[in-house]
Amino acid sequence: MARISERLAKINPSSTLSITSKAKKLKSQGWDVITFAAGEPDFDTPDFIKEEAIQAIRSDFTKYTPTTGTPELKALISHKFKKDNSLDYDTSQIVVSCGAKHSIFNALLVLINRGDEVLIPSPYWVSYPEMVNLCEGTPRFINTSSRNGFKITPGDLEENITSRTKALILNSPSNPTGCVYNFDELKEIARICSAKKVFVISDEIYEKIIFGGLKHISIASFGKKIYDLTITVNGLSKSFSMTGWRIGYLGGPEDIVEAISRLQDHSTSNPASISQKAAQAALTMPDDFTRKMAFEFEKRRDYAVERLEKMKKVRYCLPQGAFYIFCDISATGLNSADFANRLLEEKQVALIPGESFGRDDFVRISFATSMKQIEEGMNRIEDWISKI
Ligand code: PMP
Ligand code: GLU
Repeated sequence: MARISERLAKINPSSTLSITSKAKKLKSQGWDVITFAAGEPDFDTPDFIKEEAIQAIRSDFTKYTPTTGTPELKALISHKFKKDNSLDYDTSQIVVSCGAKHSIFNALLVLINRGDEVLIPSPYWVSYPEMVNLCEGTPRFINTSSRNGFKITPGDLEENITSRTKALILNSPSNPTGCVYNFDELKEIARICSAKKVFVISDEIYEKIIFGGLKHISIASFGKKIYDLTITVNGLSKSFSMTGWRIGYLGGPEDIVEAISRLQDHSTSNPASISQKAAQAALTMPDDFTRKMAFEFEKRRDYAVERLEKMKKVRYCLPQGAFYIFCDISATGLNSADFANRLLEEKQVALIPGESFGRDDFVRISFATSMKQIEEGMNRIEDWISKI
């Protein structure tokens, strides 16, 4: 009998996590690595949040909390949904989990039966298809192109809905493309999903990292029909630079949330009590920290694309949110893994091959690193690419 279950045998490691840790390890061994791999803000978690966590430890707030999170934290999340997203989620419709990744996985485990299809716009974040596979569902990719700014059209969506379609995973602002769906586009997606009774898992983790004065819109806000089919996922990792604290959350219909609560009862129980206190502090802070960080990311994006513009063998679509540039490298003649491996070995610049996101002719550059690092990394890429 095989030692590893069939379910796990076919699951790949997360390239975003493994390449990021490889780059960190090389750096610690003295390599002069520039990393454009990281999927996390390079800012420190604000002191105010850290102090609350220290206080939580000192006051022995170190025991189990209710599985779905403390009532205080859930009340703040409910308020946040109302204020930022025009969404009414009662605290009974909220589950706090160990990161948005955990929230998405919980939602899928509760919704998906073996063979159910889950629509995933491609390029996609690396973990979506593997999560669907873990639930024994079938990922069905909807290909997009840079011509549409990497967004699915109503026609694409309608064509891909079958009798087995259970859910769509929507991610705006998107990792890896940085695309942001506007009001009209979301309204159409909401109309189609409502008519066909397709659930939407709306991953809004990059909500606050959005550029050019755009405003993020939550798909569940388009009326009762779509609200009843949507699980809205968010978290503190990106907006408060709290990736290591592992706090994510979701809001959704009561029956689904109740099932997620049972699932979490028997899997992780509550997310860390100390992190929950820290999250409470984050959600009561004025939003200047997040705004300043987003402003800084926008400046870096502008600089990075100005540099890429001059490299003839690279093309890109201007990201409107998140902190990644998805670059077309087909003119180099290299596939994405060879491009990334050679760039790391020959120039010590780490980035993520596009094959992990469904496009082997692309690579992902993260600009969640200092301007100085971006400048140096771009110098190295420019020099290297002109010679291949
Ligand atoms: N969704 C997307 C698109 C992401 O890029 C990430 C980053 N890891 C997550 C969800 C999960 O974030 P976390 O689990 O740290 O909240
Ligand atoms: N979401 C980030 C990324 O895409 C962090 C790593 C991960 O969880 O995948 O790089």
